[in-house]
Amino acid sequence: MERGKMKAIGIDIGGTNTAVSICSLSGETLRHFAFPTLLSRKPEKTIKNIFKIIGEKCKLDEISAAGIGVPAMIKAKDGFVFYAPNLGWKNFSVKKAVLAEHKFRKLVFENDANCAAWGIYKKYPGVKPHFLAAMTLGTGIGAGFVSGGKLFSHRDISIFEAGHIKIEPGGLRCGCGAKGCLEAYCGSAYMNNWAASYWSKTRFAGKDLSAQEICSQSRKGAAWAKKIWKQYGFYLGIAVSDIVNLFAADKIIFTGGLAGAYSEFKEGLNSVMDENILPPYRKSVSIEACPQNHYIGADGAARLALL
Ligand SMILES: [Zn+2]
Repeated sequence: MERGKMKAIGIDIGGTNTAVSICSLSGETLRHFAFPTLLSRKPEKTIKNIFKIIGEKCKLDEISAAGIGVPAMIKAKDGFVFYAPNLGWKNFSVKKAVLAEHKFRKLVFENDANCAAWGIYKKYPGVKPHFLAAMTLGTGIGAGFVSGGKLFSHRDISIFEAGHIKIEPGGLRCGCGAKGCLEAYCGSAYMNNWAASYWSKTRFAGKDLSAQEICSQSRKGAAWAKKIWKQYGFYLGIAVSDIVNLFAADKIIFTGGLAGAYSEFKEGLNSVMDENILPPYRKSVSIEACPQNHYIGADGAARLALL
């Protein structure tokens, strides 16, 4: 087939949904679609399920390059997943499984947060930041960064695991086994572990509340909910301050579900950043939230396949 008609695909495999972005080989977005990830106990079957749906929605024969984003500790160059807790994968060659479904001419793999960072960078309007860190605030916390126009990546293992920056030595236990990680405080799956005490004297006492519910209570003016988001901003701000101080980051972008609560946690975040970031860096760093874009990781994955 002539090159002009060929396309690239980005597939962002999530524990709940899989998002797909199709673009031209010159990087122009052509289509987006998403569907629930049919998780099987066998990882090969999960990949088969995903490609069955993609094959029904588009012509795989027209796609020559593919980028696959996985929420995992991954050896990118080999498409080998060491560990993907949300997918239930361990020591799994996702590359082998993908190639069994379709022979792409070019096939790349990357951690999903890195895909999101690259997607955000490529779509960033106007002058690109010198150092952009994208932090995915979801069930857990992921992060990726682009410096001097390049995605910071390692061929052999995922890097920039900002979710495991220690923000409270000896604090709450994180899913990784250590104590006091950012994720153990700011991942939506963990928020109830510390935040529930804030609503213990309200009608919600004894209940589990989702981050979205806490956010809507805060927007309705509940003082206890406002305090939670202030505290959330403090926690997040400690990690963000470290990132800025280490890398002179000039742009931090929050994405993922909890980025929608940015207006609520902004104040706490800013006060911690004011206290902890070295003054020249504090002046040059700016923060943005990009909450609504479900396809940013898939867009980034597709564009990584074009490099
Ligand atoms: Zn951890």
